[in-house]
Amino acid sequence: MAREVLVLNSDYEPLNICHLHRAIKLVYKDKADILHYLGEEDSNVECVYDASGLDHPVPLVIRLRFQIKRPRIAARVSRRGIYVRDNYKCQYCGSPSDLTLDHVVPKRLGGKDTWENLVTCCKKCNSKKSDKPLDKSGLILNKIPKAPIYNTSLGFKYIYGASNEVWKWYLPSDEEAIVW
Ligand SMILES: [Zn+2]
Repeated sequence: MAREVLVLNSDYEPLNICHLHRAIKLVYKDKADILHYLGEEDSNVECVYDASGLDHPVPLVIRLRFQIKRPRIAARVSRRGIYVRDNYKCQYCGSPSDLTLDHVVPKRLGGKDTWENLVTCCKKCNSKKSDKPLDKSGLILNKIPKAPIYNTSLGFKYIYGASNEVWKWYLPSDEEAIVW
């Protein structure tokens, strides 16, 4: 029987993982609804009882009825983090080899060491771009660089090896989830 339940905020953002008993308590108190439960695909449903003796299917994912405000934690900038975010590919030509970091707005023009201004870049594109601004470099960015948000309440193992398939629908992909 699944003992761990993925808890989503009311906007479906993954919040944390809780024990089955806690999840049932939230459902029993009308604070959450069961989105997915054990055996829903093969109709092999097991039941679990709440404090009032009412039975529920064993939840895999529950969603809170109210929105929890949670401070977003910005991940610290690092070379490895930028590479991971960019999937180890040059953001100009897509090459996976000979990688370095490029300042989209060059340092000379006030560009900072931030998630929004650093991209993975191969050495060839890097020397082509030199310290020119993007629009003068003849290069085009594959995508706008953004800071990833890491949800610290979810553990590493859940993101990289979610214990069941259903959770994966709600958890960030490996590319989006950066763990320090
Ligand atoms: Zn390149």
